[in-house]
Amino acid sequence: MKQGALYLRKGREKSLLRRHPWIFSGAVERVEGIPERGATVAIHASDGRFLACGAYSPDSQLRARVWSFDPAEQINADFFARRIARALAYRAFLGYDAPQGACRLLAAEADGLPGVTADRYGDWIVVQISSAGAERFKHVIADALLAKTNCRGVYERSDLAARKKEGLAECAGLLAGEMPPESLSIVENGLRFRVDVFRGHKTGFYLDQKENRCAVASLSAGRRVLNCFAYTGTFGVCALKGGAVHVTNVDSSRPALECAEENFRVNSLPASAYENVEADVFAYLRHCRESGRTFDMVILDPPKFIDSKNALMRGCRAYKDIALLGFQILNPGGLLVNFSCSGLMERPLFQKITADAALDAGREARILRELSQAPDHPVPLAFPEALYLKGIVSIVR
Ligand code: SAH
Repeated sequence: MKQGALYLRKGREKSLLRRHPWIFSGAVERVEGIPERGATVAIHASDGRFLACGAYSPDSQLRARVWSFDPAEQINADFFARRIARALAYRAFLGYDAPQGACRLLAAEADGLPGVTADRYGDWIVVQISSAGAERFKHVIADALLAKTNCRGVYERSDLAARKKEGLAECAGLLAGEMPPESLSIVENGLRFRVDVFRGHKTGFYLDQKENRCAVASLSAGRRVLNCFAYTGTFGVCALKGGAVHVTNVDSSRPALECAEENFRVNSLPASAYENVEADVFAYLRHCRESGRTFDMVILDPPKFIDSKNALMRGCRAYKDIALLGFQILNPGGLLVNFSCSGLMERPLFQKITADAALDAGREARILRELSQAPDHPVPLAFPEALYLKGIVSIVR
């Protein structure tokens, strides 16, 4: 049942005709009816042509998000069951369906489900709901996820500040099935990692770095590694398994480092091979430079420094600062593994910032590998905004 209709301004139908799923407030000419927050509305071009149906967000600049471009498709439990089945089939195709493994099952727009993220950790699923439209259907989505997987419970971690823009409060709690356990772990490439679904970042774990953990392992042999913004230390564990001689994990979060400690222990890594340092990375890198401490690999995986266009300049400076310090403390032949998860930072700009940092550090460097997000975080050709994680591995002379 559609509760109303949006008519777009003349010419503003172009992005929808290219299958882009967002309608900004400035594109809307008029609203017919009085749709409620999150209601499904029909979206028409100015000449009345049907374009799509989508979820209405009266409180947000992102006024509507497309559910379907098919005029015959009803947005109901069957619709969500079909989208979820399609998303699960894709993860199975990727081979990301090992029972004790973990993967992103639903990646919002990239799976045709704006506002819906779902991650599977073994037998448990954690969802995040970030739009008014998705909020309406979250129980339907949770039930369908449980029915279509062999999982035991679906827990919600919608403690997201961004929900405010949608007129929604932050929330967390059980949505379907049983409550996940306090102590949960997953297996990835034969390594065991602890996931704190209740207090961890995002839904508990950085699934998007899955393939990059393998890349780090493959480049680590014989190296002394500095793992900055380590969180639960997964890059460090992979580096040691890949033959690194020592890993220093640095993070400002004590609970994250406690979890890192466990991750090193359960993977049988000797305490002499790693250290966990609670510190500010900027200060720690400066301290290394000042004291002449050097490494053969420096990993920089900071939090999102750019979350709006206003923060672009400031964020770029922060990325440049840490990359500069990273280059300064690399031994000859060392590797800088530099990431940005800011969607607003495009790869060419990130490469330029990394190049500027090398130049200022007086180091000559080449691109050894270009990294991206794991394929369970897909990027539709029609929705390039889904690409947010970029990594550059540079090797210095
Ligand atoms: N590399 C991790 C994910 C990093 S998330 C992984 O692959 O699992 C970013 C981390 O940076 C968080 O753990 C956060 O606690 C930490 N952090 C944010 N700002 C920091 C700072 N200034 N100094 C040290 N750690 C910081």
